[in-house]
Amino acid sequence: MIGLWMAGITGGSGQPMRRQDPAAGLSTAELRHEVRDLREQICKMALMNQALWELLRNRLQLTDDDLANMAQEIDLRDGVADGKMSDTALRCPQCGRVSNSRHWKCLYCGLEFEKPAMG
Ligand SMILES: [Zn+2]
Repeated sequence: MIGLWMAGITGGSGQPMRRQDPAAGLSTAELRHEVRDLREQICKMALMNQALWELLRNRLQLTDDDLANMAQEIDLRDGVADGKMSDTALRCPQCGRVSNSRHWKCLYCGLEFEKPAMG
C-alpha cells in the first residue's frame, strides 16, 4: 500500500518530484496535462492524509486539536507561519552541521531545535 501510495505521489517513477520549474519550456497542452496530473496527486495525497489521520486519531485517541497543534509546530520550524512546510537549511547551533527544517532536531547530534533558532 505504501508503495502504491508513494508511486502515486512521485508520479510512478519512485523518484521524488523535482524542485525545478516543471513548466519551463512546456506548451499550453503540456501545461494542462501537468496541472491535471498535479490535481490527481493532490487528491490522492489528501485521501491518504485523511485516512492516516483518522486511523491515528482512533488508535491513539488523539484529537483534532492535537493535529492542529502539531501542524502549527511544523509550520513554524522554518521560522515563518505561512501554513506551509519549506526545505530551509538550518545550521545546528551545537555541531554546526546542516539539517532540513522538516526535522525538529539535528540529524547529526540530536539537538532539539528551539523554534526561534529555526528561522
Ligand atoms: Zn547538531
